[in-house]
Amino acid sequence: MSDDQKSSGDTGAAHSGRGAYDDASTPRDLKIKLKEQRLVIDWKDGERSEFTLAQLRRACPCATCRGEREHADENPLKILKADPTGVRVTSARLMGNYAIQFDWSDGHNTGIFDFRMLRAMGTC
Ligand SMILES: [Zn+2]
Repeated sequence: MSDDQKSSGDTGAAHSGRGAYDDASTPRDLKIKLKEQRLVIDWKDGERSEFTLAQLRRACPCATCRGEREHADENPLKILKADPTGVRVTSARLMGNYAIQFDWSDGHNTGIFDFRMLRAMGTC
């Protein structure tokens, strides 16, 4: 059953359990290549993760994008509508030492990418 997904609320998922940051979720070096639209993170434990920024936009953890993805299950047409192809990152900033936030060319900037989430994406 997937009822627990609905009842767990729509905020705070990215910040739950703060305090569990170890070397595997702490960047030693972080590069955003705007020209190539890529993010490269060297983690403190020696691993490296690389992402395309389009890939990150599709995984955007903000409430708006999560809502669009959830409703996409009900109406497959919305998958196409929400596809961010062509949207680019124009700038980015660190949120303390636990997350990174991007400014996208369509004005979207509410997604905060927790480093633990990025590490999990990079290893699957
Ligand atoms: Zn979003």
